[in-house]
Amino acid sequence: MIYQKVKGMLDYIENEADKFRYIEKCVTDEIKKHGFREIITPILENTEVFVHSVGDESDIVTKEMYTFFDKGNRSLTLRPEGTAPVARSYIENKLYSRPSLTKLYYFGPMFRYERPQAGRYRQFYQFGVEAFGDSSPLLDGDLIYSGYKIFERLGIKDIVLKINSIGDFLSREAYAIKLRQYFFSYRDRLCEDCQRRLEKNPLRILDCKVDRNQPYFRTAPKISDSLTPASRAYFQKALDYLTLLGVSYEIDYNLVRGLDYYTEIVFEYIYQGDDDFKGLAICAGGKYSNLISDFGGPDIPGIGYAFGLERIMALMDRQNLFPALDSGADIVIIALDELSKEHSLYLANILRNRGYRTEIDYYHTTLKPQFRFAERLNALFIIIIGEEERINKSITIKNTKRKTQETIKEEKLLDYLKEH
Ligand code: AMP
Repeated sequence: MIYQKVKGMLDYIENEADKFRYIEKCVTDEIKKHGFREIITPILENTEVFVHSVGDESDIVTKEMYTFFDKGNRSLTLRPEGTAPVARSYIENKLYSRPSLTKLYYFGPMFRYERPQAGRYRQFYQFGVEAFGDSSPLLDGDLIYSGYKIFERLGIKDIVLKINSIGDFLSREAYAIKLRQYFFSYRDRLCEDCQRRLEKNPLRILDCKVDRNQPYFRTAPKISDSLTPASRAYFQKALDYLTLLGVSYEIDYNLVRGLDYYTEIVFEYIYQGDDDFKGLAICAGGKYSNLISDFGGPDIPGIGYAFGLERIMALMDRQNLFPALDSGADIVIIALDELSKEHSLYLANILRNRGYRTEIDYYHTTLKPQFRFAERLNALFIIIIGEEERINKSITIKNTKRKTQETIKEEKLLDYLKEH
């Protein structure tokens, strides 16, 4: 019996793990420049945290959560997204009592029971940011720009920013009435979920994966006609700041986002290249005015976004953007008899303490397989120790790039390495 990984989940092995960490390092380095600090929350939350915030009509809550009862009969859920846990923690730890804006980032696995396909997994990693404590188009523009800078830092091309305003509560109420009226005449053609959404939350219809491409979607009323003057002005200001920062965008009136907590600005960075990933969202986010107060906290607004790491990685592979992530060895020590093996163990650890990635072959005492081992690890230096070297307290060292070889006193080894 060979066990297999859970459907829709990935192993990251060696090179893939190196790429994973490279992305993590780039995005976290970049976001720290924008003043964000890390928050690490548990992977499990009480189920209510998501039902209450993401929305009991959303796909995530109705179909996709990994929920189970623990031995104490508590309903727990593997987090399907990062904003709700961060908001829960922000309130529980009273971070709102600080006088200033709180800017947090997170990085970690999320779980959704979706149909696995390219770029869609059941365990996937998100890097996300949240800023709590201010409602300002200036902040929104700057935060959306930090996402743009992450693409720039990674070198990813063919990305477009799609943005929309879904307005404040009043704008949305007015819009929901118009949408309900409009879709009512198409109700027989709507999928089962949308027929239910028509009653409970007609905005969600615009986000439907099944019905989205129907012709009558194109002629549906647009939220822009229902925005209050305040929401309209807020949106325009944020767009002006994006223009100022040199970020080009497309307004997408059908963009409403699948989670309940958004208000005003919502956005997605979409891949636009000419291949099968075209149209895939790489990063998505928006502003939420009521999430913290809905959770029982004070009336504090927030805004955030989340990147999907697997999608970044796939695009970077396609666009050849990973540098040589060589994780072999700096030095391999070849030992030609039992006593030399013993000595190589001692020497390897002296070199490791000095910061050199040093490997030894634990088994062979002949040259050929040990040279092959060094080649496989792409070692820059190969040190050879045999009986003669041991007696003379010397080593033979090969520089594989310069193709030189010399025998030196062992006590000179560190100086030699520094010089070469
Ligand atoms: P969301 O939380 O649905 O707004 O998603 C934010 C980002 O996470 C998306 O733009 C994707 O890059 C990524 N993402 C969402 N769901 C998945 C999934 N099932 N598999 C891989 N990446 C995902």
